[in-house]
Amino acid sequence: TLAKLAVHHKAKSSAHSVYVGLDLQEVDWFSLSAVILLLCTAPFLVFFFVMVCDQYQCSVSQPLVELYSGEATLRSIWEKAPSFTWTAAQIYTVWVSFQVVLYMCVPDITHKFLPGYAGGVQDGARTPAGLINKYEINGLQSWLITHALWYANAQYFHWFSPTIIFDNWIPLLWCTNILGYVVSTFAFVKAYLFPTNAEDCKFTGNVFYNYMMGIEFNPRIGKWFDFKLFFNGRPGIVAWTLINLSYAAKQQELYGYVTNSMILVNVLQAIYVLDFFWNEAWYLKTIDICHDHFGWYLGWGDCVWLPFLYTLQGLYLVYNPVQLSTAHAAAVLLLGLVGYYVFRSTNHQKDLFRRTEGKCSVWGKKPTFIECAYRSGDGGLHHSKLMTSGFWGVARHLNYTGDLMGSLAYCAACGFGHIHPYFYIVYMTILLVHRCVRDEHRCSSKYGKDWKRYTDAVPYRLLPGIF
Ligand code: NDP
Repeated sequence: TLAKLAVHHKAKSSAHSVYVGLDLQEVDWFSLSAVILLLCTAPFLVFFFVMVCDQYQCSVSQPLVELYSGEATLRSIWEKAPSFTWTAAQIYTVWVSFQVVLYMCVPDITHKFLPGYAGGVQDGARTPAGLINKYEINGLQSWLITHALWYANAQYFHWFSPTIIFDNWIPLLWCTNILGYVVSTFAFVKAYLFPTNAEDCKFTGNVFYNYMMGIEFNPRIGKWFDFKLFFNGRPGIVAWTLINLSYAAKQQELYGYVTNSMILVNVLQAIYVLDFFWNEAWYLKTIDICHDHFGWYLGWGDCVWLPFLYTLQGLYLVYNPVQLSTAHAAAVLLLGLVGYYVFRSTNHQKDLFRRTEGKCSVWGKKPTFIECAYRSGDGGLHHSKLMTSGFWGVARHLNYTGDLMGSLAYCAACGFGHIHPYFYIVYMTILLVHRCVRDEHRCSSKYGKDWKRYTDAVPYRLLPGIF
């Protein structure tokens, strides 16, 4: 039935699919194998990286050596791991419900008194079918309320221990997995039965690919509950800084002090998280919201992958409390801040350029650009501009380069004792290089020869002269 529905939708969509938007690609065997491999291995990878800290002090090789020598079996490792608990289920239910309430019921007021902050109702980018969705941007406010409550609890109320997240970490992993799979499956079924906007659905004819990469572009419940905006930001990214604080509290409880490495990881990642919420309106124009469809990749990824693997450095430092020399700490701080500067400035330049349609100043000069034309799924002809000056004239994705520098700084804050905390930089490099290639492929089919003019003008992707 699903296959028939897919064919039906595909036929229906083809009537509208003039150009790039609704890319009705057949999935090649390589993409399909990658999708199935990821679906099967990603949950185990997350379990592995958390379990090795719980059972092996974060040594990645030790369990493999023990498995090889027969000292441990997969079963013995599995049996030692904490299982699902109702306490964790309650914590997680309260957490997600609280974030839903903040998202849905507390309209943004921070934009009224924070100069330069764009909150409240904002327009998203034009979807492939030509729609412009409205979003209630209140992530910064949700983050502030959540952290104020966390602080009030730690200082005055003492309803729960600040180590609560760390203390329930593996049981919470099972709960986040349940939500991740429920949300992805719900989005998948919803796309067939009651899509929010059928014209923006993408069917490839392959069930696994559809499940993983998503069918609906902007699934919503009601007018305002937007799956992408909520799941991308709220349960995972708001939690990110709380998870780190919980790790710091655990270090304090176990050793009686918090290491400078833990402080560095907390501070650098908090800058990244706050930046995300400060720029949430800008985020509506990024690939996640503008181009990706909502499936397991985003749904499960936001619920499980992000909170567990983006916080590995803090987890590592609970088990291995590294105290860095002043020079090492200063180098990490510098790398993190320079990376953040490049990341933010690059993103800001593009945002400013696009918002003002090129009528702005970048590095003290009027920006140069290439005029492009493209068609949306409804056949409408649109115009756009690709900037060729500022950071965008140095390389085509210096925002990714800055992001990678910041990611490396988090890892380097953990010293060089284990490879465990370095998983993050390996993962981010794969993610952003793949993203770069994917984005450029899309831009090339969207802008055609205009994209070629742009790549001729700015030949490098991430590192001028190298890549
Ligand atoms: P970008 O913000 O780089 O957006 C790419 C899009 O920008 C292109 O598809 C194109 O869109 C437009 N564009 C490309 N070149 C130009 C140009 N020269 N001038 C004007 N517009 C241009 O990518 P992302 O959305 O992937 O990333 C946003 C940020 O989020 C990045 O800094 C990235 O590092 C970060 N990020 C972090 C992740 C994490 O897990 N920590 C994951 C993903 C992203 P159009 O079709 O409009 O022309």
